[in-house]
Amino acid sequence: MTQAPVVKNGKVISINYVLRNSGGEQIDQSEKNEPFTYLHGASQIVKGLEQGISDLKVGDKKKVVVSPKDGYGEVNPKLKLTLKRDAFPDDVKLEAGMQFEADSSNDGNPMVFTITDVKGDDITIDGNHPLAGETLHFEIEVVGVRDATADEKQHGHAHGAGGHNH
Ligand SMILES: [Zn+2]
Repeated sequence: MTQAPVVKNGKVISINYVLRNSGGEQIDQSEKNEPFTYLHGASQIVKGLEQGISDLKVGDKKKVVVSPKDGYGEVNPKLKLTLKRDAFPDDVKLEAGMQFEADSSNDGNPMVFTITDVKGDDITIDGNHPLAGETLHFEIEVVGVRDATADEKQHGHAHGAGGHNH
């Protein structure tokens, strides 16, 4: 009897998933005919989900509940700021809901801020991830496990259908 492949670090995993918040509202899901594909153990997905999928086999279905700590973090009030209009480019019309990138001081990754309010010269922004503070309720199904290529291991992400495109 052949064993179904097991989810382990360094494998490329394909999953179908539905993500809901604690209120049962659907936030996200994988594409209908294209499972989400990622490199396991490379922090491509939130920690709690990665841990929940570890050691599953192809065909396994599971509900994985991820606390904010192991998901997108708690809401950080310090990332909610009000700036003056002149901190932004002149030629852009600023509206609530707009997102833009800013350099972050600590890890070198650009941070995504969302404008949450525009009142005259005062622009309120929020640098928290839109899902910060949310407990994430995933329903997942493992549909593929394969070895990562050398390129994928080097890049730290999966290539091909459902994965990174370049
Ligand atoms: Zn790559």
